[in-house]
Amino acid sequence: MSDAYEVVIGLEVHAQLRTRSKMFCGCSTAFGAPPNTQTCPVCQGMPGTLPVINRRAVEFGIKTALAINCTVNADNRFARKHYYYPDMPKNYQISQYEEPLAEHGYLDIEVAGASRRIGIQRLHLEEDVGKLVHEGSLETAQSSQVDFNRAGVPLMEIVSMPDMRTPEEAAAYLKSLRAIVVYLDVCDGNMEEGSLRCDANISLRRPGATEYGTKVEIKNMNSFRNVQHAIEYEIKRQARALDSGERIVQETRLWDPDKGHTVSMRSKEFAHDYRYFPEPDLPPLDVASAWIEQVRATLPELPAARRQRFTKVYALSAYDADVATQSKGLADYFEAAATGSANPKTVANWVLNEVLRVVPPDDEKAIAACPVRPADLAGLIALIEDGTISGRMAKDVFEKMLASGESARAIVDREGLVQVADTVVLSTVVGTVLSTYPKAVQDYKAGNKPSLGFLVGQVMKSTSGKANPAVVNSLLIEQIEKLPKV
Ligand SMILES: [Zn+2]
Repeated sequence: MSDAYEVVIGLEVHAQLRTRSKMFCGCSTAFGAPPNTQTCPVCQGMPGTLPVINRRAVEFGIKTALAINCTVNADNRFARKHYYYPDMPKNYQISQYEEPLAEHGYLDIEVAGASRRIGIQRLHLEEDVGKLVHEGSLETAQSSQVDFNRAGVPLMEIVSMPDMRTPEEAAAYLKSLRAIVVYLDVCDGNMEEGSLRCDANISLRRPGATEYGTKVEIKNMNSFRNVQHAIEYEIKRQARALDSGERIVQETRLWDPDKGHTVSMRSKEFAHDYRYFPEPDLPPLDVASAWIEQVRATLPELPAARRQRFTKVYALSAYDADVATQSKGLADYFEAAATGSANPKTVANWVLNEVLRVVPPDDEKAIAACPVRPADLAGLIALIEDGTISGRMAKDVFEKMLASGESARAIVDREGLVQVADTVVLSTVVGTVLSTYPKAVQDYKAGNKPSLGFLVGQVMKSTSGKANPAVVNSLLIEQIEKLPKV
């Protein structure tokens, strides 16, 4: 990318709220039900029906607003946004415009060890649209069907200030925001199922310019990786266009993850195109300050605070603490295992290296379903620490725990996996290894320290990993001393 431009990025994040019922009616919001089984006259836009505001959705909005340092507006109001949605029976969406639920917040993010404060312009509530199901691919479909189950599901839109300057910052902001809504339990954060969606506004300008360049909106990015790649691509595209003297058109582009590029979807509409006006079917929403304080009192420990606590209480490095708090499920998992352990740092190593090898760090469901439960992991580590099994045996036991869901103790007892620390038994094995590898012995004597590691490895191999490595180590040194140097 050309350094001739400063990149300006703002993100709009839509989060589906985990309420049991929809934003303005009592229909269920459960994901995956058969099409059009979760609808009623209100969310189908029948004449004569009236919407009713979901109190829990407002509470979730307030909760999130407080967590991202926004001011909750005492007086706010819903508005009609006019737009033809083939999957929105009312042909307008109830959203918020001039008087959103909350405004003027910020979120601190960490990128490459440095902290950056990203402004939050607003947080507002609205309703989701339904879903079009195309027969075959979008390009070749002969017909499309519509599923209204999602129409009317509560959505929270969080709009950032154009404060991000790199794709990495955008990805870090989205990760932080996702972690917050999941910690708050207001959204499940599942980007693949569409519970969390992100649009990015990107523009380029000359360094030092005070006016923003023309912005392009990118939609359809359903993973952190897609967000980063789409923005990277778009920066290059705009820089190339500007370099060759083209004008950037204000438009909405779609990210195609398979082809790795963005394609123009439509010229971008402006706010006035939507003919917003106050929703006549709903009274203004008064949020009493007592209610705000009540919600504030229920705020849980947030990711940033938890990260700090992990470095203090469990002596984790900043990096480990960052990974361990990436999702609430993972942080809970680590903490449950660490609480019962004398060595939390070892627990962190096992969680970050072994558990994360089998479950993605931000997949709450996968973490909850991990066959090795935190108490079982603590049990496994305890067996290493009391010398029952070696670290290498523990890795095999861990694999078996993953496959069977059994405790480490049960596997060790059944398979008779006990570490050999008996010096008489091990001396014989050490002797055999030394006579099998005379070159390694001489290398070690000549000052090549890593040769010892090789010999330890051979003893471990001939004992099927059952030897106690510390005992093997001292026996090897002891016997090598006695051997002549040639
Ligand atoms: Zn309904």
